[in-house]
Amino acid sequence: MCGIVAYTGNRDAYPVILKGLKRLEYRGYDSAGVALVNHGLKTFKKRGKVGALEESLLGKDLQAVAGIGHTRWATHGEPSDRNAHPHRSSNGKLAMVHNGIIENYSLLKQDLLKKGYAFESDTDTEVLLKFIEDIHVSHEVSLEEAVRIALKRVVGAYVIVLLNEDDPETLIAARKGSPLVIGIGKGEHFLASDASPIIEYTKEVVYINDYEVAIVRPDELILKNLGNERVTPHITQLDMELAAIEKGGFDHFMLKEIFDQPQSIFDCLRGRLDANMGSIRMGGVDKHLDQLVNAKRILIIACGTSWHAGLVAEYVFEELCRIPVEVEYASEFRYRNPVINEGDVIIAISQSGETADTLVAIERAKENKAFIFGVVNVVGSSISRQSHAGAYTHAGPEIGVASTKAFTAQLVVLNMIALKIAYTKRTIDQHRYLHLINELNEIPDKVALILQDTDHIKILADKYKDARDFLYLGRGYNFPIALEGALKLKEISYIHAEGYPAAEMKHGPIALVEESLPVVFVATKDMYHDKILSNAQEIKARKGKVIAVISEGDSQFQEVADDVMMVPLSDELVAPLLSVIPLQLLAYFIGVSKGLDVDKPRNLAKSVTVE
Ligand code: GLU
Repeated sequence: MCGIVAYTGNRDAYPVILKGLKRLEYRGYDSAGVALVNHGLKTFKKRGKVGALEESLLGKDLQAVAGIGHTRWATHGEPSDRNAHPHRSSNGKLAMVHNGIIENYSLLKQDLLKKGYAFESDTDTEVLLKFIEDIHVSHEVSLEEAVRIALKRVVGAYVIVLLNEDDPETLIAARKGSPLVIGIGKGEHFLASDASPIIEYTKEVVYINDYEVAIVRPDELILKNLGNERVTPHITQLDMELAAIEKGGFDHFMLKEIFDQPQSIFDCLRGRLDANMGSIRMGGVDKHLDQLVNAKRILIIACGTSWHAGLVAEYVFEELCRIPVEVEYASEFRYRNPVINEGDVIIAISQSGETADTLVAIERAKENKAFIFGVVNVVGSSISRQSHAGAYTHAGPEIGVASTKAFTAQLVVLNMIALKIAYTKRTIDQHRYLHLINELNEIPDKVALILQDTDHIKILADKYKDARDFLYLGRGYNFPIALEGALKLKEISYIHAEGYPAAEMKHGPIALVEESLPVVFVATKDMYHDKILSNAQEIKARKGKVIAVISEGDSQFQEVADDVMMVPLSDELVAPLLSVIPLQLLAYFIGVSKGLDVDKPRNLAKSVTVE
């Protein structure tokens, strides 16, 4: 959550920072601000999106060789100009941006108040800055040392970047629990929450680790741990093109990313699944195949949409591999006292690889000696580094706040892992294995077919956009897709929606059914088809509106439903990869027809780096 950009070097800092903030805006957009040293340290902050800040600064002299910028996702204090970052020290010489939460800020604040410090904002960030200032000024230690001392006393998660009027070209940054990437240029350095603001300037980057402090000058990058010992920066090459983070002619990132799916799923399969050879090769899986095959239990840990991918995987793993699976919300898992035994395998799923709860859940599981397998999209992210092994989803950068292509790529990766384990364990026979490999291989083309004609979904969106509530029902592999469809609708259109297993509907939700309630059935052809058809009849009998995602040629369901969205026939095990696509589109078109900003939905942020 929240986007940080900072720059020091030979270019004009403000345009670099502004462009970077626009790229990071998906991470939070309550308010935005920059600090620059230009005839003294100056901060400019504005409630609202980055565009509002830009407008307020038009025509101002903002020339500077270094600066820091921030786009906020408020945790402490309402979104306002006052609470926007960067914050200033009492002596006015320091400015700081922060991503995360300082949990013990209240105690620190009380101490600082006693010492006479005053606060201009309600944020935890200002407290941390003034805590650092206090150590720097009253203990007469260097700013770098003050940062280290302060961070040893801080509880919580953070990335911070400090700008100092007395030494404007030197930025000091540190992280714990939130991401920070440093781009290395010629005589310049770029700092950002992810690589998107950096990519057009350099491909050489360093990912900062927890408890590291970076001292960044135009020509120099020094990394130290909190004990003031030097750490060698590990330089990696970004494997990403600028075009991948631009809209490419689509109105919104979300729509672009929905349409990316034939390619992103193909990219996820490429080099791994070979339908001609009937083989699956995945580095992270092959190397640890013994551990995975002999798993006594698989625990899947995730949040949000990734949790839904985990639920689909539960059905798939149990069916194919005969290994018991439990799917946990990371935020619950980390705080309860879960039973983890030797031989348990933890699969952690996260698009960003930075999800705070999932990261800590991994730490807990590691303490209990579990084997951690990460399924993440962002290469080099914290979860990928904290895992013992893993597989990237290779969906490319996902910028729309509502996850679409990362979800389908997660499903593909999880399916491939399950197939690999099942085939090695001989819990499926050669025939089924080859059949499912073929089915997966055909998914990109089938998704492309669905995307060929989306006009009818737009018409449906207009028809149902004023509904107050939606119910989504599915069975088996499509039950998690019902949850995912409901989540997409909530996120993008602010319409209340709930997902349920179709049969469970009779244990409560059916009481909501009336003429004005659209009920979306995720009902592609599978072994429960007759059962879900009966459930649809039950809704019709109570005058509810039935919208159904069905397999092509399903005339039975067509007779019952008010409206249908069709997907190509497939094996039920891979059907979620198809049935979710019309639901993503339905949510998107409803959001658009309500005039909402689907790429930046209210209160949400892309990468949840606070717990
Ligand atoms: N906790 C800080 C605040 O509320 C930082 C939030 C963020 O990561 O944007 O301002």
